[in-house]
Amino acid sequence: MKYYNNVLETIGNTPLIKINKLAKDFPALLLAKVETTNPGNSVKDRMALKMIEDAEAQGKIKPGGTVIEGTSGNTGMGLALACIAKGYKLVCVLSDKQSKEKMDILRAVGAEVVVCPTNVEPDDPRSYYSVSKRLAEETPNSWYVNQYDNPSNAIAHYEQTGPEIWEQTGGEITHFVVGVGTGGTISGVGKYLKEKNPGVEILGIDTYGSVFKKYHETGVFDENEIYPYITEGIGEDILPKNVDFSVIDHFEKVTDKDAAVYTRRLAREEGIFVGNSAGAAIAGVLQMKDRFKEGDVVVVLFHDHGSRYVGKMFNDDWMRDRGFLDEGFKNAEELVKSHGERDLITCGCEELVSHAVAKMKSNNISQIPITKDGKFAGFVDETKLYQQIIDESITMDTALSAVMEEPLPIVSSSAKIEEVSAKVSRNVPAVLVDLGNNKYHIITRHDLINAIQ
Ligand code: PMP
Repeated sequence: MKYYNNVLETIGNTPLIKINKLAKDFPALLLAKVETTNPGNSVKDRMALKMIEDAEAQGKIKPGGTVIEGTSGNTGMGLALACIAKGYKLVCVLSDKQSKEKMDILRAVGAEVVVCPTNVEPDDPRSYYSVSKRLAEETPNSWYVNQYDNPSNAIAHYEQTGPEIWEQTGGEITHFVVGVGTGGTISGVGKYLKEKNPGVEILGIDTYGSVFKKYHETGVFDENEIYPYITEGIGEDILPKNVDFSVIDHFEKVTDKDAAVYTRRLAREEGIFVGNSAGAAIAGVLQMKDRFKEGDVVVVLFHDHGSRYVGKMFNDDWMRDRGFLDEGFKNAEELVKSHGERDLITCGCEELVSHAVAKMKSNNISQIPITKDGKFAGFVDETKLYQQIIDESITMDTALSAVMEEPLPIVSSSAKIEEVSAKVSRNVPAVLVDLGNNKYHIITRHDLINAIQ
């Protein structure tokens, strides 16, 4: 028989997977250390267990105790699994920027979740740093994990993640790239790899709105670098003790948009369904392409699973609301798709103004093409009709042939939006699209405005 004694024994030994399509123009071998096969679906299982075991060994946590942590979710999940196996209670303090999925998952594994506002200073009593510390002081027999400053965090990666990567690459690794939050992953892995081969470059991925890059390059902790951002799991407004700046060769900043777009591309183009910091990491690697050359072996670490982001980066509406979807402008056929199955509404040129007005009212439209012998002979427009009725130059009984204007221009279904717009003017409020088989539809100024929003 071959089985594990509990879920904690399944932590580690995660796969190293070659990136193919996204690395098409990449000069070196690009390998991803995919941490989603850990039981809590993230790399954080490793350090969570290590932190608890070290605390037990140091007598900081006693049987029946409560573990308290300010966590963005993944550490909480790792702690929850360890707490279940070891019989501790767990309270997780989260910022309200974190996805609802992450919170629900933590509750599913028995943690109590406390939510705090994101956009307050770290020393504000409402911040999740302050709230976690206060809860730890107030709860008897409790232990505050503090993954930011707890050395066991980086040590877990020095003892496990680093050696795994070294062995899996047969010592051939030349660059290690990873998103930086508490710094545990980059510092532990980086220290191990540099000890094995000081030539291995350690590259950290940072976000816009975080202090790491500037601090690393100038030694200045610049508060102006701090502003709200969307990317999850990486970047900080503090300097955690676990970030060992001495093992990091370079920080690369990635935009929220690129991080989100590449999170989706990893799923669609590589079949690797991972989280937002993985998207930032791969975007950062590709952005730094010129640092690498043929023969290099670049390892990028993907922290967590994509399922935690289905309501965000994997949701089209969420992406569109933030302007993260490059949908491009549509062609004429796509523009009329929003009209659904509705047929083009027309009037014959022998019909009367009253007929056109009735059709405009009942269909809630402003222009009607006029036909004669099955061909487009002109059009009427509500504004002009209205004016002419008011100044009594026509009546409701006037024949449409007497009031219609020149026929609307016709474009092909593949016409680009620029071509369509060029034909629309003050006097030409719409164009007709030839959809083939004698079917036509109309694109109005209103449709064009909708398409560019
Ligand atoms: N990605 C995700 C999704 C995370 O949860 C974290 C931890 N905050 C990180 C990246 C950064 O890892 P580390 O804390 O080890 O620097």
